Amino acid sequence: MSLQEKRQEYKCGDSYVTLADIPPWSKSARTREGQDISPTSAINEKISIFQGDITKLEIDAIVNAANARLAGGGGVDGFIHRGAGAVDLQAECQSLGGCETGQCKMTGGYRLPAKYIIHCVGPIGEKPELLASCYKNALDTLKAAKLRTIAFPCISTGVYGYPNDNAADVVLKTVKTWLEDSANQAAVDRIIFALFLDRDLEAYKERLPRYFPQ
Ligand code: ADP
Repeated sequence: MSLQEKRQEYKCGDSYVTLADIPPWSKSARTREGQDISPTSAINEKISIFQGDITKLEIDAIVNAANARLAGGGGVDGFIHRGAGAVDLQAECQSLGGCETGQCKMTGGYRLPAKYIIHCVGPIGEKPELLASCYKNALDTLKAAKLRTIAFPCISTGVYGYPNDNAADVVLKTVKTWLEDSANQAAVDRIIFALFLDRDLEAYKERLPRYFPQ
């Protein structure tokens, strides 16, 4: 199917967002400061923040904050199941036999603009190692599947109750460490933090210059 044909099938119609619409962090900082400086680190070309609905992103893979049964639920999980077409996605999820906390499983994206969904099961409550494990496993899964673009919601910070600021620290540290491996860095084009709530946008904006200095 051509991209034009696939776009006709999107449940979100023509409200999809392409990678070209989302500047990398290096560019965001340059624009903000009104300066045309070259990025100090290649890593800064590989990450972005995006405020909005993750299900609109026309990229290789979006991450779902799933439950252990992969049964579909509320929050971002509900958005993803509705955006994909709940019946088809549920059938594939049911065939996977659930997923352990901190682990992930990949499915097709069906009628989402994203090609694949990586379903991560985040910890209930503040368990930094399990949260870090979600992000690392999702990135390893992306790389193993030879996919190059991914977006993450703020896993566990909704119903699962992980404090937003502390989660942002774990996420940025984990992603930075993963990207510092040169083979990983070469394997991805963009890692997008899809921030739905203003409080998460603020938490990431405050921390990005610290973890990813320009
Ligand atoms: P969890 O059960 O892992 O806590 P939730 O879905 O309750 O998962 O919340 C995870 C995060 O996803 C929250 O920050 C929530 O605001 C955010 N979220 C909800 N809907 C969307 C969406 N459509 N796109 C991106 N993020 C979303």
